[in-house]
Amino acid sequence: MAEQKRDYYEVLGVDKNADEAAIKKAYRGLAKKYHPDVNPGDAEAEKKFKEASEAYAVLSDPEKRRQYDQFGHAAFEGGAGGAGGFDFSGTDFSDIFGDIFGDFFGGGRSRGANNGLMRGANLRTSIRITFEEAVFGCEKEIELTVKETCKTCKGSGAKPGTSPETCSKCGGKGQVVFTSQSFFGTVRNVQACPDCQGTGKIIREKCPDCRGTGYVPMKKRYAVDIPAGIDNGQCKRLPGLGEPGTNGGARGDVLVEVVVGRHPIFQRQDYNIFSTVPISFAVAALGGEIVIDTVDGKVIYDVKPGTQTDTKVRLKGKGVPTLRNKEVRGDHYVTLVVQVPDKLSHEAKELLRQFDAESGDSLNAAKNMDKDEKSGETKDGKDKKKKFWK
Ligand SMILES: [Zn+2]
Ligand SMILES: [Zn+2]
Repeated sequence: MAEQKRDYYEVLGVDKNADEAAIKKAYRGLAKKYHPDVNPGDAEAEKKFKEASEAYAVLSDPEKRRQYDQFGHAAFEGGAGGAGGFDFSGTDFSDIFGDIFGDFFGGGRSRGANNGLMRGANLRTSIRITFEEAVFGCEKEIELTVKETCKTCKGSGAKPGTSPETCSKCGGKGQVVFTSQSFFGTVRNVQACPDCQGTGKIIREKCPDCRGTGYVPMKKRYAVDIPAGIDNGQCKRLPGLGEPGTNGGARGDVLVEVVVGRHPIFQRQDYNIFSTVPISFAVAALGGEIVIDTVDGKVIYDVKPGTQTDTKVRLKGKGVPTLRNKEVRGDHYVTLVVQVPDKLSHEAKELLRQFDAESGDSLNAAKNMDKDEKSGETKDGKDKKKKFWK
């Protein structure tokens, strides 16, 4: 060992009192920077990577760290290292590299995947329903293409008359112990067997119908029970009807997204319904019964005399049932909008003039103001107007 070894704390750039988390964090940072996968062919980076890995192997292990603190590098000399190597056995890099590889290659490397058992993927689909169907719930049918067990080979993937052989690489266990000699000497990782993809079996002659996968795509129809109160964009989950898992993993789910159509007069917000109802000037002024459309059908509502436009009324419990309990419902808010008639018969116009003369003479307000001015009468409001016209 010609070269002087650097201090492990210095290598990782941490304090002598650094805790486990700080050491891990420091190493993770260096490993990301110098990992041979990121610096292919860069001998200097590789050296730095090894150095950091060695420092981490020692400092992450309380016993080794204690020895190092006491004896320095001498604590590990003359051991199993051999030709300048370092004995990495007993150091667990898997969580660190799991994370790093995840970062480098965009994730997807699930830790549970080591034994090959994986849950099947979820299948997503959507259905269109009407506003009323969302309010009261409905039964719908969906059609999906789902992988089903191949009938020809009964899911084994082997050509009928043959059967899968036990994988010789993993001895049928589906896992292999992978040792990375190149950088760590003896770091052991358990991985899904690359020959059999963790199944423990090798198919020599593949089933012609499923090409050895054991599954064939099939069109399936499922009844979907859409609960009352579901809203646009919500999903109904059909558990266990999705893609099959691998190596004994459970099937995924089917997620049915609900797309609710617009209603010509009702709008919805959460569990409340909103609508606008026109009322005539006469009903607004005199009061009277009007007919309001609700999701339960028509209801009669008694408008109070003197109702102004944009008055909001609440029809309690006429809203959308809640998903949790369909007996509990939101409300229906109605905005009453007073309509101004735009087509009047001659008689109606005459009657309206009479009505106006009787109720304040608003039609002649401007003319009457001129008269008041000429007669020299001064009221506050009129003073202001005169000044304005000067
Ligand atoms: Zn088959
Ligand atoms: Zn195998």
